[in-house]
Amino acid sequence: MLASYVAGAWHTAPDEGVVVVDAATGDPVAHVSATGLDAHRMVDHARRVGGPALRRLTFQERAAALRELATYLDAHKPAYHDLSLATGATRRDATGDIDGGIGTTFVFSSRGKRELPEGHLLADGDVEPIGKGGTFVGQHVYTPIPGVALQVNAFNFPVWGMLEKLAPAVLAGVPTIVKPATQTAYLTAAVVRDIIDSGALPEGALQLVCGGAGGLLDLLGGEDVIAFTGSAGTAAVLRGSNAVTRRAARFNAETDSLNCSILGPDAVAGTPEFDLYVKEIAREITTKAGQRCTCIRRALVPESLVDDVIAAVRARLDKVVVGNPRNATVTMGALVSLQQRDEVRDAVASLRRAAQVVYGDSMSVDPVDADATSGAFMAPVVLLCNDRDRSEPHEVEAFGPVTTLIPYRAPGDDVSELAVRGGGSLVGSIVSYDPDFVATVVAGAAPHHGRLLILDRDCAGESTGHGTPMPQLVHGGPGRAGGGEELGGMRAVKHFMQRTALQGSPGVIAALISGR
Ligand code: NAP
Repeated sequence: MLASYVAGAWHTAPDEGVVVVDAATGDPVAHVSATGLDAHRMVDHARRVGGPALRRLTFQERAAALRELATYLDAHKPAYHDLSLATGATRRDATGDIDGGIGTTFVFSSRGKRELPEGHLLADGDVEPIGKGGTFVGQHVYTPIPGVALQVNAFNFPVWGMLEKLAPAVLAGVPTIVKPATQTAYLTAAVVRDIIDSGALPEGALQLVCGGAGGLLDLLGGEDVIAFTGSAGTAAVLRGSNAVTRRAARFNAETDSLNCSILGPDAVAGTPEFDLYVKEIAREITTKAGQRCTCIRRALVPESLVDDVIAAVRARLDKVVVGNPRNATVTMGALVSLQQRDEVRDAVASLRRAAQVVYGDSMSVDPVDADATSGAFMAPVVLLCNDRDRSEPHEVEAFGPVTTLIPYRAPGDDVSELAVRGGGSLVGSIVSYDPDFVATVVAGAAPHHGRLLILDRDCAGESTGHGTPMPQLVHGGPGRAGGGEELGGMRAVKHFMQRTALQGSPGVIAALISGR
């Protein structure tokens, strides 16, 4: 039974709860239940103990605490990697989640050290002269919100998903309650236990709920932040809660998205960009078995290059070894659960109404070192949608190893019009060495995307890839992607702070800012 961390003590539910099983073997891993959990005590503890303790620290002390925390977790990460295998992730997949999460914490620590002031007040922009005589000025400042940050996270990044929100909240001086997705909560819980044991953060800075979020939302309001990652459906439920609609809790959503990757007409077979494009598609749909919110779901390809792309993607996917991630020869593990696999199969069936399968079979797989009936395995699937009027490829998210090729006419079509049919995305990529094509697509697609990767032979060596959010850059996107924003350097810290316009005499304002 996973314990929750509530008001300084570990709470174990008295009932059986939900049994979570190993994604690859079907063996039980943990029981998860929030029965008996006192939501009121948690919120109260965060507000009365965690918040004040964090706010007593200066920005610089919080940055130092984050470094101590990241160093501690880094030393303990082999245990997280072992545990992560039960989620279906390969060891390579786990690097993005575990090392990525710890790395993000290090980045926030060092950026905070470099960019935040010594004291407790963060100035925003310059002093605004208001009075003609210069005796009355304005200055925007940020201070930590006095409430709590409730994280509600998706199953696919149990470590990174928590740390990428925790690090900026700590820098801001705001306590966190984390509610991981039930399916992979055991991994988050293991890391939370180490965070508590590390002593790097003051008591109350982090609490954990394993199981349903229950009454927590009922207790939140204008002093608090709800930071959600998951499906658009759940985001709509939370966004419609009284906490948000009546009491004006801040709400940030990172949801699903039909991300595209666009191949430029110049990038014909034999060019470096063509190879980069194909490599990226194959890597995206097989990393974490395609269970990344940023995964390429729509591959927009010039009509004349479709056959070449299919052939090249097929050659790469033929080398993929699906199976138990504990077997070293396996390159693609399992989906997180049989239920998730069935949902992906259903989504592929919906896509097939508009598209034909040109690679793979969602219903058939022969996993290495595993049983296809008890493990949540699925082979990579590529579809081709030749009918540009169909909406399915732009609307149906198959959250697994699935992508759909969509041909466009070049010259003729404005490919950014196809890109924006996703209704707002976390990320898109443009793979081309033609600056005019790139400029046209960026102008059309940027307002509909949180991030755009322009991939070519010059940056490929250092590129972090289509699917990887970086702590320095914005993660989030408009419309279907949730309309939220995370990361993006120190902007992320401000999401947990209140911006206030101070007005007064220049001397008083300057003294407040400098902390003297
Ligand atoms: P989900 O079913 O929406 O669940 C997300 C979280 O919400 C889980 O912790 C879940 O808890 C919780 N939850 C569900 N109903 C709730 C309610 N009524 N009140 C409070 N919490 C509730 O999503 P998922 O299946 O875990 O994740 C897959 C989806 O997330 C995909 O669509 C993917 O695209 C999206 N995603 C987006 C991002 C991003 O950054 N944009 C990142 C990762 C995933 P339980 O598990 O206990 O039900």
